[in-house]
Amino acid sequence: MNAARPEPSLQINAPEWVQHAGLKAWVAQIAALTQPDRIEWCDGSEEEYDRLCALMVQAGTLRKLNPQKRPNSYLAWSDPDDVARVEDRTYICSEKEEDAGPTNNWKAPEQMRDTLDGLFDGCMRGRTMYVIPFSMGPLGSPIAHIGVELSDSPYVAVNMRLMTRMGRKVYDILGSDGEFVPCVHSVGSPLAPNQADVSWPCNKTKYIVHYPETREIWSYGSGYGGNALLGKKCFALRIASNMGRDEGWMAEHMLILGVTSPEGKKMHVAAAFPSACGKTNFSMMIPPASLPGWKITTVGDDIAWIKPGADGRLYAINPEAGYFGVAPGTNEKTNFNCMASLRENVLFTNVALTDDGDVWWEGMGPAPEHLIDWQGKDWTPDSGRKAAHPNARFTVAATQNPVIDPEWDNPAGVAIDAFLFGGRRSDTVPLVTEARNWVEGVYMAATMGSETTAAAAGAQGVVRRDPFAMLPFCGYNMSSYFQHWLNLGRRLEQSGATLPHIFCVNWFQTDDNGKFIWPGFGENMRVLKWMLERIDGTAQGEENLFGVSPRFEDITWDGLSFDAAQFKRITTIEQEQWRRELGLHEELFNKLQQRLPQELSQIRERLDSH
Ligand code: GDP
Ligand code: PGA
Ligand code: MN
Repeated sequence: MNAARPEPSLQINAPEWVQHAGLKAWVAQIAALTQPDRIEWCDGSEEEYDRLCALMVQAGTLRKLNPQKRPNSYLAWSDPDDVARVEDRTYICSEKEEDAGPTNNWKAPEQMRDTLDGLFDGCMRGRTMYVIPFSMGPLGSPIAHIGVELSDSPYVAVNMRLMTRMGRKVYDILGSDGEFVPCVHSVGSPLAPNQADVSWPCNKTKYIVHYPETREIWSYGSGYGGNALLGKKCFALRIASNMGRDEGWMAEHMLILGVTSPEGKKMHVAAAFPSACGKTNFSMMIPPASLPGWKITTVGDDIAWIKPGADGRLYAINPEAGYFGVAPGTNEKTNFNCMASLRENVLFTNVALTDDGDVWWEGMGPAPEHLIDWQGKDWTPDSGRKAAHPNARFTVAATQNPVIDPEWDNPAGVAIDAFLFGGRRSDTVPLVTEARNWVEGVYMAATMGSETTAAAAGAQGVVRRDPFAMLPFCGYNMSSYFQHWLNLGRRLEQSGATLPHIFCVNWFQTDDNGKFIWPGFGENMRVLKWMLERIDGTAQGEENLFGVSPRFEDITWDGLSFDAAQFKRITTIEQEQWRRELGLHEELFNKLQQRLPQELSQIRERLDSH
């Protein structure tokens, strides 16, 4: 941390349950820099949550929904310029540029610290600074890590209570000298004396900054989830991926689910799909009634921390405690369990408000005749705009999920049987392919492409390479990250362990009218069933250039009318499309050349020569 900071002037008044001198000194230092009017030490209680929500209702940040319709729930509308993650404003400030790698924005740490010192100087004036202690992973578990976020946003404080294990208990674990990741967040909108506040303060200038060596996060100018709830993508992925590389584990952008067969055999699957490409849906899907006896349970919906166990298998925990999910497209038919999770105690952001004080979004069901849209304007079905922002979100505690896995909170994690990687591709990429071995699986994941979505600011629907669905989240050099995966696999293989099988999936091919060909959602169980049977060694498939894919007769079709021609359309590897795709692999590898593992370029050369 920077040495030349002003002496604290504000009394930090730490409660007696905070015993950590280093933490108190840091809070004093940040308070001296940012100059909030008040400091509030969050205890994570329900009383505190209710009080902060009431405060935000008064300030116009939140609207209380009709308790008859949506008990104990609130709706926030953000500034129209603060609706998604900002990848071009996100930095990995490692000492050496090469360690951030060519896929991350980089600035020298001293230079960035200078810039941020200027921006954070007095940035909390007129506001309260909340001290938010949280644990990523079960409290006190040996694989959990603690963070403390200092934020001038009460919206962040209440969201963190739903998304993480937040509150006073964290201090018992921290004790007087425990380790924590310091996270500083400001909406970047100081108030002059008597200046009226706006309902969603933020700043046009935004910085989401990570210092991997000192394990620090600094976020400025945005109140949006992925930019402001620093336990999530910033800590649990960008900083944790650095921890994992150093300590021999993995921090991944993956859902984790349990799947139980009709015979009662349970397996666990971890799946990486880019933002807004189906993680939350897949993690809680309901298998079709025509596949009786199959059951899915949710361990996590977004992030997995994965460590080798003593038996050589890979064990995954969900470091989070809540879901920050995409609302549009969610309904009783496509994701019943999600809708059931959202019946009460929810924070909604940027969905539309109905006349009876409830919420609505595109894809929820028939549109009401009148709404107030996410920008506070009157809306009717023929107004020609979306009522909810395409990246409108809900925040809800994981415990509200009716199919939460009984092991979801187990500090030991669950043993992973399969890794899935999937992007959103309207063509080229077949429904499912099994890699023949670990290295080929790493190649598939590394070269994966996906169409951009509303989860990040910028153009949408553009195909880009998104290795391991980690492009925006890997906190170090992407080539070193590939090497880390290869090393871990080799180490486990040498110890005689059975590695998880690796599969590549694509639910999103479209027909000539732009309609999805594959029914998706619960019907994805049919594909999952084939994958599990492959692991058991009971299912057949067909070898192709990239791996093994099912033939039409290898999938169970009971109760679904999906014919062989449609199946062919979404499974055929079309020569010309794949030439183009391999060209894009090459482009990626050229970019990542510096530390690219040789095994991966060798596979590419082999594919090319076919
Ligand atoms: P996440 O951000 O990766 O967790 O993605 P979500 O599960 O929230 O899904 C993002 C969007 O994709 C939502 O609009 C979903 O309705 C949609 N979606 C999810 N799964 C499928 C699927 O299997 N098929 C189709 N066509 N859409 C899906
Ligand atoms: P997600 O990302 O779309 O992967 O859930 C959340 C975010 O944008 O912060
Ligand atoms: Mn999600």
